[in-house]
Amino acid sequence: MVELTNIEIDALKRNIPIMQKEGLTFMIDKLNEIQASTCLEIGSAIGYSAMMMCLNVNDLKIDTIEINEDKYNEALNNIQQYQLNERISIHLADALTFDTNQLSYQPYDCLFIDAAKAQYQKFFEKYINYVKKDGIVIVDNLDFHGMIYDIDHIKNRNTKQLVKKIKRFKDWIFNHEDYDATYYHIGDGICIITRKE
Ligand code: SAH
Ligand code: MG
Repeated sequence: MVELTNIEIDALKRNIPIMQKEGLTFMIDKLNEIQASTCLEIGSAIGYSAMMMCLNVNDLKIDTIEINEDKYNEALNNIQQYQLNERISIHLADALTFDTNQLSYQPYDCLFIDAAKAQYQKFFEKYINYVKKDGIVIVDNLDFHGMIYDIDHIKNRNTKQLVKKIKRFKDWIFNHEDYDATYYHIGDGICIITRKE
């Protein structure tokens, strides 16, 4: 696997919540398995996961959306530095209000949701419409550092609210009549969602 060790170390030092290596490897394997040619990512941060996907999946093209201007600028820099701007189209916007006419590579083989955890269901409902019929949705951070299994003992009120919202999303998607969701205890908890036949 091609690595971006300098960007990875830099992000970890600055507490930028990039995808854990284990989860990233799992996702890249999955994209290769389905021979994905397009992906939409919600939450670019500094571009690490998008670049890793591009560097390790042949001919993959990515749209990625980031709400934070500083992170967006940094991602843009990183993408240009690795000459991936022909394959990664990055948008500075709140994904919830983003004008989807700006998307470059729809429809997608994969939708990767990795942004504000309280909004997972909203991201899903908006962007599932741009996923191919046999495409997949990957959602990260479903364990929230294990806290999801022990909600009663979370002291911090905001954290508790957030974890409850993640749990709500999980309950919603795992019981949805239109989708199959499979949970993987990898990284910080990942699920893969597909449409039912
Ligand atoms: N996918 C990245 C990490 C993303 S961290 C990687 O693994 O390298 C989550 C990012 O989502 C943060 O940078 C945050 O600013 C962004 N974000 C949060 N809410 C968002 C929204 N509504 N729209 C777009 N981006 C959002
Ligand atoms: Mg994440």
